[in-house]
Amino acid sequence: MAEAALMEDYVQMDAVDWVDFPQGLCAGWVQWKLLHVSPETGSWTAAFKAAKGASIARHTHVGPGEYYMTKGRMVVRGGSEAGGETAVAPAYGYEACNARHDYTFFEEDSELYMTFLGPLNFTDDDDNTIALVGWRQVYDAWNASA
Ligand code: ZN
Repeated sequence: MAEAALMEDYVQMDAVDWVDFPQGLCAGWVQWKLLHVSPETGSWTAAFKAAKGASIARHTHVGPGEYYMTKGRMVVRGGSEAGGETAVAPAYGYEACNARHDYTFFEEDSELYMTFLGPLNFTDDDDNTIALVGWRQVYDAWNASA
């Protein structure tokens, strides 16, 4: 990935190693590749790979996000039986601004690509912010792990 600047970007994805996604923001085995950050819009794009049984910690999308799931099965907002979604690859999903994801769970080994138009606000059970994860935070985390 290029510097966080206003410029074109290109990532040969099979030439970039997967990196463990920080525990605390997830449980179980989740890896990611940060593909792009955009300081001008506050957006960021990443690929994720999750093992069956992994989950993403409680968070709210401060801005909307779009994903393309290429493999697996992901339960979002309680799953389709509870008014949320159960995404089964191949799948596209749009999560609205302020979408709250109490527990995103992977029922199978999964892979997805997602663009976030703004930060994720990770919170505890009392809605206190644990981590506000925007383009700058993912950019720094990615560079620290590379
Ligand atoms: Zn989410």
